Amino acid sequence: MAAPVVPIPSTNDRPHHPIPVFESSPTFQMACRQLEMVAAQTDIDPGVLERLSMPKRAMVVSIPIRMDRDGRTENFVGFRVQHSLTSGPSKGGLRYHPSVDLGEVAALAMWMSWKCGIMNLPFGGAKGGIACDPAELTRGELERITRRFTDEVLSIIGPRMDVMAPDLGTDEQTMAWIYDTYSMHVGYACPEIVTGKPIELGGCVGRREATGRGVVYCILETLKELNLKPGDATAVVQGFGNVGSAVCHELAQRGVKIIAVGDRYGSIRNNRGINVSALSQHVATGKPVRDFPEAEQIPSEELLVTPCTLLVPAALERVINHRNASQIRARIIAEAANGPTTPEADTILSDSDIFIIPDILCNAGGVTVSYFEWVQDIQQFFWSEAEVNNHLEKMMLRGFNRVRDMAREHDLTMRMAALSLGVQKVATEKARRGLFP
Ligand code: NAD
Repeated sequence: MAAPVVPIPSTNDRPHHPIPVFESSPTFQMACRQLEMVAAQTDIDPGVLERLSMPKRAMVVSIPIRMDRDGRTENFVGFRVQHSLTSGPSKGGLRYHPSVDLGEVAALAMWMSWKCGIMNLPFGGAKGGIACDPAELTRGELERITRRFTDEVLSIIGPRMDVMAPDLGTDEQTMAWIYDTYSMHVGYACPEIVTGKPIELGGCVGRREATGRGVVYCILETLKELNLKPGDATAVVQGFGNVGSAVCHELAQRGVKIIAVGDRYGSIRNNRGINVSALSQHVATGKPVRDFPEAEQIPSEELLVTPCTLLVPAALERVINHRNASQIRARIIAEAANGPTTPEADTILSDSDIFIIPDILCNAGGVTVSYFEWVQDIQQFFWSEAEVNNHLEKMMLRGFNRVRDMAREHDLTMRMAALSLGVQKVATEKARRGLFP
């Protein structure tokens, strides 16, 4: 039986702080504050704004599974939030992390709406998550959690309704299990139910690297703007998973020296440059970044304040905050992670000459190639990696230029310009479609 859908009260009977589960979350507060800042500068219909400030739909499910170690039943909690279905199916990742909660997922879903708006993709924003630590679970437990979660949210997902993709703590295998569970339910193979799945199941070549590649296209454009050469640049990267490792590889290929890297277990530094291929091989054997022998260990709090040309947070949200913002010594911050910079940190950084490439632009390469994957699966007509990368580069540069032009024309920060473009796209579509009934 389908789990209950958390009802979102209509705007008329909504008290000021209606749903504490959302509003108590600092990440959701951050997303709402950004929306309020856009609203203060633009001419958005108040009714539309009211609708944009809450998700369209949120579902909370119990996921009971039998544990491998002792056969006991453990209950996990899963979330799927769809912020907007106005522009097409909602689209967004599924993350497995111990701190996942409804507010965080709702904020991430809202950011996905703006991201799809900037990139002109025919999607609304969504996000999902399960509060669990994938590093502590066996493969069998992860498979059962994923399949049970998929089964519980079946009533609100579908290739024309809501399409999931990998995020923090999930990968191609997770998507393969969702694809299989959904297909078993509908009775036919339905690859377009997820993106970021294995290539042999209808995945898109280049999807795994797409988010990191998109980040690097934005970085290269910014270096050009600032008259800096990649060969003279140094980079510090927080997170060495899907996104962080791809960023390191793409930057190193273009001559950027990666001088410090961190993951959840610790950080390392080597001013002569870290050998990224050797680090990848080291991590592929299951070892943490901090045990890499060709670099010195540094305390994790030092990572983000290491002097460098490019600082790339590619792990969690709110890591650049009022405690460390004033100590950051970078020329460019490329926000590969979602929501890595708090509004307080933004205010502090606005007094510096640091160029920020905001998350909803910087990491949009992932959802862009997810869009390519969805289109290919629907058409059953597959592209080459060169075609994927060419289209990705063109679309990332178009997005970057639109945001930069808007920032220049209206004297806005890159973040405010990106948010304004994304919010206005969704707001215009909502206004044109009108209010049902
Ligand atoms: P991942 O699970 O593959 O990798 C996450 C990395 O972050 C790991 O190296 C992990 O050890 C590290 N990490 C976790 N906690 C940390 C901590 N406290 N301090 C330092 N490092 C920590 O996840 P991913 O897919 O690479 O996603 C990373 C970020 O990029 C997330 O914010 C995600 O929302 C965002 N993002 C991902 C995609 C995508 O396509 N995967 C697309 C857009 C945005």
